[in-house]
Amino acid sequence: MKRKMDIENQLKRAIDKNQFSLVYQPKVNFQTNKMIGMEALLRWEHPEYGWVSPAEFIPIAEETGQIEAIGKWVLETACKQNKVWQQQGLGPLSVSVNVSVLQFQNGKFLKTVKTVLEESKLDAQFLELEITESIMQNIKESRDILTQFKKLGVKISIDDFGTGYSSLHILSKLPIDTIKIDKSFIDELDQLDRSPIIKAIIDLSLNLNLSIVAEGIETVNQLEFLQANGCMIGQGYLFSKPVKANEFEQLIRTNDVRNFEKQPSL
Ligand code: C2E
Ligand code: MG
Ligand code: MG
Ligand code: MG
Repeated sequence: MKRKMDIENQLKRAIDKNQFSLVYQPKVNFQTNKMIGMEALLRWEHPEYGWVSPAEFIPIAEETGQIEAIGKWVLETACKQNKVWQQQGLGPLSVSVNVSVLQFQNGKFLKTVKTVLEESKLDAQFLELEITESIMQNIKESRDILTQFKKLGVKISIDDFGTGYSSLHILSKLPIDTIKIDKSFIDELDQLDRSPIIKAIIDLSLNLNLSIVAEGIETVNQLEFLQANGCMIGQGYLFSKPVKANEFEQLIRTNDVRNFEKQPSL
């Protein structure tokens, strides 16, 4: 309780106190072995508790309404950084930003994204918004909102796919670009035989002309299974953990994401 209250109170000042930062994780095309983009992930260094996971503070930020300001900070920071890399001749890569469903449903968010794109001068095609399946609960409203973002030129990805409200029928009715298979499915590939489900998700995505991204790839076995079944893009510790901007810049420069070749023990 105390921790939750502390987090709630101190979140309000976290932006002003420069306690937030972003880390970036490469998104890799397995066919070419090249990085095609990155996911921006939020980090908070709390003065007392140290690094607090977004899984803990994002839900609190949603409850208290602070998600709007935090989400805007994330968007600005990620778009500016991506533009800086592009100006340095690195890329062009696409940056994916996680957006909470609450934030997404707020009427002001479209304007925020427009403003951030204008101010950062990042071309909309290099921004992808990741939202979870719960967006599908209200299909009519979601379709209208998503359509406005598509008009702006940004990409839309359904994160953690398979864990929530997935309805295959709804999937075909929403203007989305990408499906991200949740890590829990990738984990199970090594444990028990869940492969028919993953195969079905991959086939479905390809049939619907959606791109498919696997998250949380940790082993060569998982990678080989995905490749053999037509999923050619993914993220995971096998390639790289999320890293700070300066380290990420090195990754882009060398485009050396296939570091597992040097770590056969993985
Ligand atoms: P997510 O968007 O599904 O992000 C993937 C999470 O899996 C990240 O955790 C990432 O660090 C972790 N991950 C990636 N590859 C591997 C792997 O190979 N193995 C393992 N064990 N983990 C891997 P993280 O950074 O702690 O973020 C957790 C969640 O918090 C995210 O899940 C996302 O839902 C949320 N989140 C993070 N940043 C933001 C943000 O800026 N805004 C919002 N609204 N939510 C965010
Ligand atoms: Mg994500
Ligand atoms: Mg995810
Ligand atoms: Mg996930």
